[in-house]
Amino acid sequence: MRRRIVILGSTGSIGTSALDVVARHSDRLEVLALSTHSRVDELVEQAERHRPAVVAVTGREPTEAQRARLSALGVKVLLGDDALVGLARLESADVVLLAVVGAAGVRAAVATVEAGRTLALANKESLVVAGSIVMSIARRTGAAVLPVDSEHSAVHQCIRSGQRSEVSRVILTASGGALRDMPLEKALRATPAEALKHPVWSMGQKVTIDSATCVNKALEIIEAAHLFELSSEQIEVVIHPQSIVHSMVEFADGSTIAQLSPPDMRLPIQYALTYPDRCDAVAPRMDFRKAVRLDFHPPDLRRYPALESGFEVVRRGGSLGCVFNAASEVATEAFLDGRILLGEIHPIIRATMQGHAVVDHPTLTQLLEIDESTRRAARDIVRQKAYCVTPEVAAKT
Ligand code: NDP
Ligand code: MG
Repeated sequence: MRRRIVILGSTGSIGTSALDVVARHSDRLEVLALSTHSRVDELVEQAERHRPAVVAVTGREPTEAQRARLSALGVKVLLGDDALVGLARLESADVVLLAVVGAAGVRAAVATVEAGRTLALANKESLVVAGSIVMSIARRTGAAVLPVDSEHSAVHQCIRSGQRSEVSRVILTASGGALRDMPLEKALRATPAEALKHPVWSMGQKVTIDSATCVNKALEIIEAAHLFELSSEQIEVVIHPQSIVHSMVEFADGSTIAQLSPPDMRLPIQYALTYPDRCDAVAPRMDFRKAVRLDFHPPDLRRYPALESGFEVVRRGGSLGCVFNAASEVATEAFLDGRILLGEIHPIIRATMQGHAVVDHPTLTQLLEIDESTRRAARDIVRQKAYCVTPEVAAKT
């Protein structure tokens, strides 16, 4: 029996890589459903190639011509806000790959685990916003949550070499992003074009900007805490420019296990879609016939202050992850629009977190409301410049 895969966000960077993985393992995997927000032409082309039973368009109305092409294929089309949840609940789905960007993925993550389906999770935001809820439902229904994020996939693989109770620390690696070698003052004032030039990975805009500020690593700290039930003291971050060691796990006896592979998201995607089996490589392998250099150094917190906020979210919990995420989405949008400097993204997140009274055990409905109200608060903070910048950012403002 082939596994039937639902890909939410199939027109994105992870989504298109996932379609490549599915196509190359057509003996084991088949596409059941796809979704896009607004790139409907790309979705129609994907449907023509991969023949899903259902597709969803969440951000706009397809044109008559697009509808006609989909109906010629016999594909059912879902539209609007509830469409992702509809795909996540499809009776015949085996695995739901959640590859949409942002808090838009939260309700689909909850629906997937509620339905007892395997959740292959690229959308880290759903755990950052509602990790306690998603993981507790998954424990109740027995749904597996398998990480696609390369660091968490590495941790998932490394953890298998010991008992869960023997894990002492998880060490997440970070590339340092596009601006890691730029002098700090210049990096804090980098343009969107500079910040979007990631040295190693080719990814969507949000995660690429987040890599330059390490907001991405802060989101990943929170994601790891939920996925692997870790305290903030059990998580460390190390800068590893080559992005070959995707993360490490240290066990009680001091042995550290690492996962290595050339940077290519198709490997962690394949791992999650075929777990617990491993099958032939789609992504390239390590070549040790050439010299391989691996560097590790501690992060500079003046360059990456978001890391400390990530740890704070893990320590304080409750609704704070939702606030961190919503503020980061608003701030990134403002940066991409040229309204703020790169070095102002984290101060905006801080100011938004400071203005929030943490709710300890929020319901999903409360979190969705907090997401909305935080976006409004963060937009006001951006408009009124109601945040404190560091001396480095202030230097030439
Ligand atoms: P992209 O921006 O490339 O793709 C996002 C996908 O989600 C697209 O299909 C997009 O549709 C859809 N989408 C956008 N907004 C919405 C919305 N409001 N509602 C529903 N669907 C929406 O992102 P990535 O593929 O880079 O990232 C996806 C997720 O995976 C993120 O959470 C990211 O952090 C995570 N991730 C990504 C990695 C990577 O290598 N790219 C690595 C590790 C994690 P449309 O095409 O119409 O815009
Ligand atoms: Mg990652």
